[in-house]
Amino acid sequence: MASDSASFVCINCGTNTPADASGAPLATCIICDEPRQYIHVDGQAWTTLDALKKDDTYSNVFKPTEADPENMISIATTPQYAIGQRGILIRTPKGNILWDCITYIDVETIARVKKLGGLKAIVISHPHYYSSLKDWSDAFGGIPVYTHVNDKQWVQRPADNHIFWEGTTLDLLDGEVKVLCPGGHFDGSSLLLWNKNLLVADTMMVAASRKSVSFMYSFPNYWPLPPNEVKAIWKCVRPYEVENILGAWIGKEIMGNGRNIIFQSAKLYIQYSGHEVSKYFGPSAEELTFP
Ligand SMILES: [Zn+2]
Ligand SMILES: [Zn+2]
Repeated sequence: MASDSASFVCINCGTNTPADASGAPLATCIICDEPRQYIHVDGQAWTTLDALKKDDTYSNVFKPTEADPENMISIATTPQYAIGQRGILIRTPKGNILWDCITYIDVETIARVKKLGGLKAIVISHPHYYSSLKDWSDAFGGIPVYTHVNDKQWVQRPADNHIFWEGTTLDLLDGEVKVLCPGGHFDGSSLLLWNKNLLVADTMMVAASRKSVSFMYSFPNYWPLPPNEVKAIWKCVRPYEVENILGAWIGKEIMGNGRNIIFQSAKLYIQYSGHEVSKYFGPSAEELTFP
């Protein structure tokens, strides 16, 4: 596995960042030092992936998802590292894809993924989960990493085979997997659709009840998303059949009726943020009669 000694890992968000011209880490992490994240209360701190591997504290767990225990496997670091998100290994008949990425990767992780069929590509929803994308790509032979071009400014350490995709939909593996970009949380915030499972990352958040989703510009700092952007997310999802919704953390899954849950959640969000629902969903608009 390639190891880049001139890169540092932000301990708060887990993103790999190149060193400055003198070989030192940057003063702050650009992912954390803006309103959708935050600088840790003790100040900016950095480590390296090699240091994380050496201290024997961390390992990755592989856990079957509820939505598809055979073919969608969560990969997450224990104890939780940085934001604590999972990657989801999707095992399709046309090859495997990793949805989102995590900071920690070691030889055990690589062996386990290879045993599950390896990886053909990595697709990442938005900058909070860029993490160690280059190391993951290198570990599987330099496979392509797809991130949306709208978020290009946040990619600090691209993969050798980094693809900045454009537009609102991306078909991968001969159309087996579809990636959608409704924006919102980030301009390039994306969703992945496979087998009626919608993998949502931070484009929408699976609620604690697992019966609804919510939308935010900044989750840690509680900045809401404007209603027109929530409507845009619904419009992006509307043409597709969605059963299960899989969020960014293990256990954050909504089983069944996904598309209608997103529709109802978008309406509730607009209502509870004090806006006229009919201004965004009708009254004569076809959305009011969905499904
Ligand atoms: Zn950071
Ligand atoms: Zn995020």
